[in-house]
Amino acid sequence: MTRDKAPPACTVGQELASCPDIAAMARASGRSGDRPLRSPACPPGRLGECREECAVFGIYAPGEDVARHTYFGLFALQHRGQESAGIAASDGHSVRAYADMGLVQQVFDEEHLTGLRGDLAVGHTRYSTTGTSHHRNAQPVVVASKAGTIALAHNGNLVNSYQLARDIHGGSAPEATTDSSIMAQLVAHRFEESGDIAAAVVEASRAWQGAYSVAILTEGKLLACRDPNGIRPLCLGVLDSRGYVVASESCALNVVGAEFMREIEPGELIIVDDAGLRSTRIASPARPAMCIFEFIYFARPDSYIYGQLIHEARRRMGQKLAQAYPVDADLVIPVPDTGWPAAIGFAEESGIPFGQALIKNRYIARTFIQPDQRQRELGVRLKLTAMEEVLRGKRVVVVDDSIVRGTTKRGIVGLIRRAGAKEIHVRIAAPPYRYPCFYGVDTSDRRELLAARVGSVEDIRRIIEADSLGYQTIEGLTEAVGLPGDLFCRACFDGDYPIEVPDELRARKFALETEPEAEMASAAGKETDVVSSSAD
Ligand code: SF4
Repeated sequence: MTRDKAPPACTVGQELASCPDIAAMARASGRSGDRPLRSPACPPGRLGECREECAVFGIYAPGEDVARHTYFGLFALQHRGQESAGIAASDGHSVRAYADMGLVQQVFDEEHLTGLRGDLAVGHTRYSTTGTSHHRNAQPVVVASKAGTIALAHNGNLVNSYQLARDIHGGSAPEATTDSSIMAQLVAHRFEESGDIAAAVVEASRAWQGAYSVAILTEGKLLACRDPNGIRPLCLGVLDSRGYVVASESCALNVVGAEFMREIEPGELIIVDDAGLRSTRIASPARPAMCIFEFIYFARPDSYIYGQLIHEARRRMGQKLAQAYPVDADLVIPVPDTGWPAAIGFAEESGIPFGQALIKNRYIARTFIQPDQRQRELGVRLKLTAMEEVLRGKRVVVVDDSIVRGTTKRGIVGLIRRAGAKEIHVRIAAPPYRYPCFYGVDTSDRRELLAARVGSVEDIRRIIEADSLGYQTIEGLTEAVGLPGDLFCRACFDGDYPIEVPDELRARKFALETEPEAEMASAAGKETDVVSSSAD
């Protein structure tokens, strides 16, 4: 690919095959014609499908191989999204992008990275959700405007996407795009009006309601901003004197040799260009509402959020569980991988030996993200093996991060039982997950959430076929994280949503609201109790 002449940028809705720049890359990689690829900005699909945990990465470092750095950054953030990956880069004259389905390693080869050389880049990995395994949802979203081309990578979810889509489309076709492409279109529109990308982001963000940690590039500038509640993480690093990096998690800074500077504040906008780094605000900080589920499950154990090492927070969750739900047992085992630190903490606190009995096939994506129920069930068997030698005749405490749909947990208990365990006591580092998330995690509607669907912890224990079950309390979770509870969103546990959720969106996920409130209240009252089959 030549870099001396700015090629036409890929525009919204353009097929990859007809986007001159990306099509050239596709031809070079031998991918052209193998399936109907679309540009990352291509909109078709139901609005709101892109409700998932994702990763964003951005780098401004003239003279560096920014595409390769972004590749390494996305590689470190792979746990946040395994469905698709994409990188957009700019050499100051043009924006080039490539995205496809698959893991970072599968999507990019040497040729792609060579074609993406420049001074700055943004990247994205995306989490798989129900019905959304489509190339069209891969990011960064690339939109051309008369003022320049922008590429936008988004983690989070807007709660007013429908309204914005209706506004953009003049009251029609509200299904015609994802929230991320709406955000990009709004920025591009404002950019075209003012010619000032920072002003365009500030202006466009006034319409965004919900969760967003965003990295944006245009020819010559990298921008990154975080919603006023700070729901999704986003941090800033410095690359010696060579440039700056933004990333969803600090673990992605280390791999590119960047030093952690600080977290991007809620409502803050960072701009990096040849004049250096500047900070401004898109909005005043609102009620702090960092997603506490980042501490439980999403973030990598070696990342820091709000100064807390995730591994240590999870270890303390295990200690809290052991205090709240003691049990006579021979062995504490984790459900790999996210159950490890909490299991270590449980073993430390209880004095019960820690061991490894479940072996994970490391080349299978997390079952939570498998697109449908049947695949999730199959996923457990593909993913985990239980070692009979370790488990036979033992009373086992199994520690895991959370129960969302419950399918996986039941499969795991069955695996351990078949491997000969005498008793299985399940301890969960999170409280019961009862309410859907509207801020970037696809937990579908309440009918799919086991703790919402089933009345009590005892019923959940029966369903997963454990001998006893103990959930973390919300207080225990907050203490384990080590920060004041009012800094966090905990809505999936307590239903207290920090950002108002429009009725039309809420209605889609609150299908259980017809259930008697008394039943739910009774379930909530039981959630702190350890439930044992021997008490039946
Ligand atoms: S509802 Fe739960 S998963 Fe969603 S942002 Fe809040 S704490 Fe995180």
